[in-house]
Amino acid sequence: MNKIEHIGIAVKDLAAAGRIYEKLLNTSVYKTEEVRGEAVKTAFLQSGPNKIELLEATSSNSVINQFIEKRGEGLHHIAFDVDDIEAEMVRLKAEGFILLSDQPKTGADNKLVCFLHPKSTNGVLIELCQEKR
Ligand code: ZN
Repeated sequence: MNKIEHIGIAVKDLAAAGRIYEKLLNTSVYKTEEVRGEAVKTAFLQSGPNKIELLEATSSNSVINQFIEKRGEGLHHIAFDVDDIEAEMVRLKAEGFILLSDQPKTGADNKLVCFLHPKSTNGVLIELCQEKR
């Protein structure tokens, strides 16, 4: 596993949250993207070497909506960059981690992604992401 690729924050209103994080980080949202498979809209901001992903649900059965209903807005996941997502999935599964999908899925920002269940990672949703090649 490589560096933290980004930190995901669940929000109710992407535009409003974008404005808050633009002020906080003194920068602009550089990209917004809808991920239909996950029923989310995302907005990305860069702060130095770090990236923040804001996520808003686009449907009531989106995982982001379920998360906000249960826990409110806030820190949603930490994403780690990996070179070979399939190899990491095999390794982590063998280590006993619970993967939320059997195959990598298409995520935002030209990535292949896979999530690990927070039950197996001390309450933190972990995302693996690999740049699509
Ligand atoms: Zn993410």
